[in-house]
Amino acid sequence: MNISDIRQHFPILDQQVNGKDLVYLDSGATSQKPLAVIDALSTYYKEYNSNVHRGVHTLGTRATDGYEGAREKVRRFIGAKSIQEIIFTRGATTALNIVAQSYGLTNVKEGDEIVITYMEHHANVIPWQQVAKITGATLKYIPLQEDGTIDLKDVEETITPNTKIVSVMHVSNVLGTINPIKEITEVAHKHGAVMVVDGCQSAPHMKVDVRDLDCDFFAFSAHKMCGPTGIGVLYGKKALLEKMEPVEFGGEMIDFVGLHESTWKELPWKFEAGTPIIAGAIGLGEAIDFLEKVGLDNIESHDRKLTKYAYEQLSQVDGLTIYGPSPEKRTGLVTFNIEDVHPHDVATVLDAEGIAVRAGHHCAQPLMKWLKVSATARASFYLYNTEQEVDKLVAGIKKTKEYFSNV
Ligand code: PLP
Repeated sequence: MNISDIRQHFPILDQQVNGKDLVYLDSGATSQKPLAVIDALSTYYKEYNSNVHRGVHTLGTRATDGYEGAREKVRRFIGAKSIQEIIFTRGATTALNIVAQSYGLTNVKEGDEIVITYMEHHANVIPWQQVAKITGATLKYIPLQEDGTIDLKDVEETITPNTKIVSVMHVSNVLGTINPIKEITEVAHKHGAVMVVDGCQSAPHMKVDVRDLDCDFFAFSAHKMCGPTGIGVLYGKKALLEKMEPVEFGGEMIDFVGLHESTWKELPWKFEAGTPIIAGAIGLGEAIDFLEKVGLDNIESHDRKLTKYAYEQLSQVDGLTIYGPSPEKRTGLVTFNIEDVHPHDVATVLDAEGIAVRAGHHCAQPLMKWLKVSATARASFYLYNTEQEVDKLVAGIKKTKEYFSNV
């Protein structure tokens, strides 16, 4: 599929915003959805809306097949060994909280260490702060290099025999940095710690193979990879998940319920209490089909090429600071500030040009502190974005600079 074929699948892109053709550069926050995903949700509700795992009636069987079929697609998509290792959650945030509450609170004690980095999203900071607070463990940060990358020497120095959990993002949602997860996992395992990966910004943009990474947990959200909101995935190695207790209890997750004691279903259902996110899972399965049809390799090379192009074009704009590493070490986005202009003003002027970018702290306040800024603007790219759109961004930024130099 070439780029204009791809764009045909995203009806939302074909509209004007503030009188200008929409340029959507905020896929890091949430991606747009192809028609196939929108239609899959609508077909489910129009034709076979039903609860799963319970009824023997035809609609219920069709819904169960759709829901469980999506689980198999996710398993294949990330290279997991078994569907028992694929837990549907409300999103990456919930997935990381399950690991923190179920694995963290049980396996971490006073004097132990939890290791993260300065670039983590709040979803991969606060759950660990809570575990540290409750258990008396220490939360440690792997320092960053000046260009916003991680040096393995620092990884070796930060992770010690007292470290029980290492939790690192695969790709930064602010810097775009692609982190050396496989190597960090090796260090974590050498010290007997488990490795948790926040894959929110990698799963949409590159082929992920959890067995190759050898991580113990991997979390991501469907809505950043062409799927619906409200559903995400927690991958966990079966041997670990089997030993973990659920964090939510109720219908769907039980095997037998007595008056004072109950037993749980087998994996992965023991972690999916209540009526699950049926339409969401079906939509996620459809999104995976779509991404695989385009080809993850093609998406990766497109996104990296476009990121490099944006980085190079923006580097030529005077008074603009770009955060994060050189293009070959990053994917998906460029984060920047214009001298003497608040990023919210940048985003407002760009919006008047029909260009959607994100401005703020990007749920990464520890990183903002490290960068010594309170906020930045971020343009993030996906499979439907073009070089012409990057050119419009650059023109919009020049206009912003001009506007604010006159006020
Ligand atoms: N981690 C990263 C790197 C993200 O970019 C995000 C979303 O912005 C999250 C975690 C949280 O994802 P969600 O809000 O879908 O749970």
